[in-house]
This record gives sequence, C-alpha cells and structure tokens, in this order.
Amino acid sequence: MSKYQVTPDGNYGRYGGAWVPEMLYPNVERLRREYLKILDSDEFKSQYFGLLRDYVGRPTPLTFAKRISEIFGANIYLKREDLAHTGAHKINNALGQVIMAKMMGKDRIIAETGAGQHGVATATACALLGVKCLVYMGSLDIERQAPNVARMKMLGAEVVPATSGNCTLKDATNEALRDWISNPEDTFYVIGSVVGPHPYPDLVARLQSIISEETKRQVREQTDKDLPDYVIACIGGGSNAAGSFYNFLDDESVRLIAVEAAGRGLDSGDTAASIARGTEGIIHGSRTMLMQTDDGQITEPYSISAGLDYPGVGPLHAYLASVGRETVLSATDDEALEAAKLLTLSEGIIPALESSHALAALPKLKFKKDDLVVVTVSGRGDKDMQTYMKRLF
Ligand SMILES: *Cc1c(COP(=O)(O)O)cnc(C)c1O
Repeated sequence: MSKYQVTPDGNYGRYGGAWVPEMLYPNVERLRREYLKILDSDEFKSQYFGLLRDYVGRPTPLTFAKRISEIFGANIYLKREDLAHTGAHKINNALGQVIMAKMMGKDRIIAETGAGQHGVATATACALLGVKCLVYMGSLDIERQAPNVARMKMLGAEVVPATSGNCTLKDATNEALRDWISNPEDTFYVIGSVVGPHPYPDLVARLQSIISEETKRQVREQTDKDLPDYVIACIGGGSNAAGSFYNFLDDESVRLIAVEAAGRGLDSGDTAASIARGTEGIIHGSRTMLMQTDDGQITEPYSISAGLDYPGVGPLHAYLASVGRETVLSATDDEALEAAKLLTLSEGIIPALESSHALAALPKLKFKKDDLVVVTVSGRGDKDMQTYMKRLF
C-alpha cells in the first residue's frame, strides 16, 4: 500500500477528515464503511470496468506528440481523456459512483455542478443506468452555461437553481448537502472531484486511478522506458491529477507536476491557485488549502477556465504538495490560451481550457533530451470554442 494513502479515518497528513454537520454523519459513515468493499467486489468491478471499456471507450490512447516534442526538447506523450465519452475524465468517476449508489440500494442521485461538466457526466451515468438525477447549480452558472444545462435536461436530469450567496458552485454545494440531509434513505450524493468529506477524496481518486493504470502499461508497451520522468496534469479540485498520479505515487523517480489556474496572475487578486495563494481551512467537509479572507470567508476564485475556478483543492494534493511529492506550478489565462493554440496547430488537438493549463507547464520545465513526459489532456475543447474565438482571433 502506498505511503501516501489516506488513513482509515480520512487523513492525508494534517489534511482531509470528515468535517460534516451531525445530521450528515450517518450518510457519510455508511459510505465510509462500505465503499472499499464495494469497489473490491466482483459485481462492481465487472460493471465498472465493462462500461469503461464498452461505453466510455477505454483505454484512452497515449499519443506521442512529435512536433511538440521537438519544440520542447523531450519525448512528450498525451494521455487522451479528451477521447472518453462526453469528452473528459469526469465520466470515469460519475459512472463508478452511480453503480455504487445502486449497489447500496439508492435510486435517487444528487450532484452539484459549477460549469456543468460534472452535472453532464452524472446525468449521462444516470440515463444509462436508469436512475433519477437532480443537479444543483447556481442560478448565475445556469445563465452562463446554457449548453450544458440543455444537455443535462435532454439527458433527463432535473436542474435545480441555487439562489443563495453568489449563486455559483459553493451555493449549489450547500443546497445539495441540504437535500442529502433531508433524504438520507434513498439518495446518493455524487461528488465531482477529490474533494468533500472522507471517503469522497479517496473514492474519487480510486475511480480516476484508471488513468495512471493505463498510462503505466502504455509507457511500457510504447516506449523503451519503464516509467515516465514527468507526469503533468491541471488541478481544479484535483481529480484528473489524482488519477494521473495515483499509480506513480510510490515511483519516486517520476516527477508529478500539478498545474493550478493563476487566472490574471498569482498576485492579481483574480486567481484560483488555492495551493500557491490559499491558506489552510475547512471547505466542503475537508481540511485543505483554500482561498479565503483573513476572517475565514471563502473568496470567489477566478480563472478563464470554468472547471478550474474552485476555491479549494483536494486534501490529497494539499498533502502531496506539503511533503514535496508533487510540484505545484501555475499558469495564467494567457499562458493557457497560448498552450491551446500551440497544441492545436502542432498536433491537431483542441484541448479543454483546463487541460491547456497542464500544457502551459511545458515551457516552464527544464527537460533533458531523453526525458519521457506525459501530459494529461483532461478534456476536449469543444465546450470552450466561444472563449477561444473571442480571445485568439
Ligand atoms: C472539471 C474539469 C477539470 C478540473 O477538475 P479536476 O477535478 O481538477 O480534474 C479539468 N479538466 C476538465 C476537462 C474538466 O472538465
């Protein structure tokens, strides 16, 4: 077992835990008691891995990026989560949690969403597996993300507007938690990243660990090395990074690079870099690094990329960064846009704005000529075309 593994009561060093109101305790506790047994059961594994293969289209390719490699002077490979069904890694997690919910006898799914990507993944899994789906979404986000709202509705989900606070993700999360407290028997709360109270960060990391399981095998099959020298991924909450790093955590020669969204700049006040510019505190039931005022009010994060503007980060990443196992870099809006342009013109792949932040780390690192670098392309850029058109042309 990895020395970076969560403890049985949910701690990653001094981060993590399950800081939930007493009314939520029974729900969280039942999940904590059952999740590892379910993940390990033949019934779960046959459904989950069967759907990953036949429905999601896994394994996703590991693509050698020849022209980008020449530009940066290393062997650069792309882990292609953009080719997963629905266009990003989030489906790996949503399917796993909905299968788990059904195995726990729950037939009503709730989720929160900011930009709508996790809502779409959850609505997709619920349509496929035939369960009722409610997605809480800030009313401001509902206005800003009309195409994803339409997708969720077409998939049969009910989109419930959260009208408190700033009417964004934090408020949607509060509404979802309130729903879960009122409906403890039949409802399962599907969380979209490695955040929230234990066991969610560990559950989501395990469901996304398929990314590094495949990468590890593909590196052996496709290259003359056993292990990559670098694995690079962006972090919002941190689920695609957790999945990309998971099976390399104990391979200490593999440098793990997490890239946060600096927004308009780390010191501009408009940033989402929770590790670089945040402080320790409790958010969504977990002790971690987050963006807050001196008196503990959560501040609204900013990034050009809707999937990265979350005010906290998963406790696993706060911990890995604090012990030096992962290196945290950041990329600004402009750097991410440049990286998107470069990947598109050199490799014919339009990346999601989130993934562009991971690619923007390439010019910041000093590679040796034979270094093997894996960059996770967490999603495809179709959803970001409006922003790209406005900012690049
Ligand atoms: C949601 C999203 C992210 C950020 O979430 P993580 O939990 O940090 O992975 C990154 N990339 C894409 C394409 C997303 O949709």
